Amino acid sequence: MSLKTGKEYIASIESLGLEAHVLGEQTADLTRHPLIAPSLRAVAVTYDCAHASESRSLFRVYSPLVKDEVNRFTHLHQSPQDLMDKVIMQRRCGNMTACCFQRCVGMDAANAVFSVTYECDQAHGTNYHQRFREYWSRIQREDLVVDGAMTDPKGDRGRRPSEQADPDLYLRVVERRRGGVIVRGAKFHQTGMVNSHGIVVMPTVSMRPGEEDWAICFAVPTNTKGIRYIYGRQASDTRKLEANRLDVGNPSFGGQEVLTVFEDVFVPNERIFLNGEVDQSGKLVERFAAYHRQSYGGCKVGVGDVLIGAAALIARMNGVAGASHIRDKIVEMIHLNETLFACGIACSTLGHPTAAGNYEIDMLLANVCKLNVTRFPYEIARLATDIAGGLLGTLPSAQDVEDPEVGPYIRKYLAAAEGVDAVDRVKVLRLIENLVAGAGAVAYLIESMHGAGSPMAQRIMVARQGDLEGKIALAKHLLNIQ
Ligand code: SF4
Ligand code: FE
Repeated sequence: MSLKTGKEYIASIESLGLEAHVLGEQTADLTRHPLIAPSLRAVAVTYDCAHASESRSLFRVYSPLVKDEVNRFTHLHQSPQDLMDKVIMQRRCGNMTACCFQRCVGMDAANAVFSVTYECDQAHGTNYHQRFREYWSRIQREDLVVDGAMTDPKGDRGRRPSEQADPDLYLRVVERRRGGVIVRGAKFHQTGMVNSHGIVVMPTVSMRPGEEDWAICFAVPTNTKGIRYIYGRQASDTRKLEANRLDVGNPSFGGQEVLTVFEDVFVPNERIFLNGEVDQSGKLVERFAAYHRQSYGGCKVGVGDVLIGAAALIARMNGVAGASHIRDKIVEMIHLNETLFACGIACSTLGHPTAAGNYEIDMLLANVCKLNVTRFPYEIARLATDIAGGLLGTLPSAQDVEDPEVGPYIRKYLAAAEGVDAVDRVKVLRLIENLVAGAGAVAYLIESMHGAGSPMAQRIMVARQGDLEGKIALAKHLLNIQ
């Protein structure tokens, strides 16, 4: 099987003819849009790495599903080593892009849907697992990107889906036909959506009896009739529209989130993987979330590596690299970042097989991983801001740096350690700015807080999985208390 190159991937997305609402305009030709192209290039890295000699063996893996080599981003994990390699691969992509490369959600959704459909069939006599195997075989063979879509708008958080003033606030089945169903609703925060070939939609919470219409999981191509895309804004995103790239911070790459609206979309039976089996929905939510919580132990660490490197570089440019407090702050950043990586690796090492045969991470440790991710990148960003100094917030624009009249003043007064080019110093400061307060902070900070579930969701799982009674029993046993 021939795996796509980045260039072939971009051409394949182009051929889908997707449109989106971007900055107030219905826009076609998305792959050439200056706001979107950087995010497409970031996904393309996941393809090119499967061809580059130094990363090829990590990004390629044998898939028993199609009995051939596939890109690891489409893999159904077969061992703890596979789970670890996933995290290592994500760290590497974070290193290369310093942003969200968007392809993990599909892999995480596939691994969750694969095992839950198997268990659903066992419990209900359905045939969802075979359907999903057929669907995912195509994804692997054609080396496609899939968006795993979970987060519903949710309306009034104090009310169940059926109690909402507008029942569409949770995506639902509005009509059942012989050949399939019609769905309506929306999914927020859809990472990489208009860079994807397909969408796997999952329920957003554990559904209860009476909520069968909301317990729906299915796949559709992104260019399906009735789906609308509304592009998410990021801080300082319009800098990408400027001719001079200096102020963008990350000159080549960026992330993408999209509000996706399903306006009476038809889903054929062969692409439905859950349809009213409410008892299976909670499991699906938990598993997808846990795989994605593991993912952050790779991708956020990879971006953290770049931020730590940029902080150390600006310290060197400023002539303070040798100061003991700077060295100590850098050590602290490395310690925090590697702690996240350790969590990603740990929940993988303790992974176990599901009944369907693919491997699942250790749930408790995956949640601990993500709970740390809600904090440590913020502390790393705080330390980077500290080291970078106040210029981070007050630098003149790229246009002024290039201006024949004021440019020379900027270069003169931005002089720092001997031999450091003033514009290089601006580049490093803009990269740090991108990650702590600009477009890159969407993935590095805000998504670290809320992506794959907000901190409270992880705390609930930690409470549930933490075996408190077992710990009490240990204390009692030691003290001989009955
Ligand atoms: Fe992958 Fe990280 Fe982006 Fe999620 S945030 S899609 S795990 S790179
Ligand atoms: Fe995410």
